[in-house]
Amino acid sequence: MGWTVRKQLLCPACGDVVAEAIHRRLPAMLTVLATAGYEVMPRRSAAVERDLGEGLLAGVPDEESLREMLQHYHADLIYELMCARGHVTYRPAPVVVDALRTTPGAWVSLA
Ligand SMILES: [Zn+2]
Repeated sequence: MGWTVRKQLLCPACGDVVAEAIHRRLPAMLTVLATAGYEVMPRRSAAVERDLGEGLLAGVPDEESLREMLQHYHADLIYELMCARGHVTYRPAPVVVDALRTTPGAWVSLA
């Protein structure tokens, strides 16, 4: 497995590319680029959880499982990814890195 991997992340709802992710092993660094080219900045789990509680998050497919995920990854950064069709996917940074490192090929499904 190389020091740097670069793969396309796929929307779990429709399979479209939502972002490109680049992970470097040492020093560990994850960069996520939206299809429009800008860098997606992750947010602290607590901030996402607060927005969820206040109803500020748009397009959450399953509020209960998102809440559980945020509690499980309370110390991690969360990426909020939206595909061109408007599906929103929330994934903790370690989960994105894991998927990048363990999925063969150029595409990674976030399902
Ligand atoms: Zn989608």
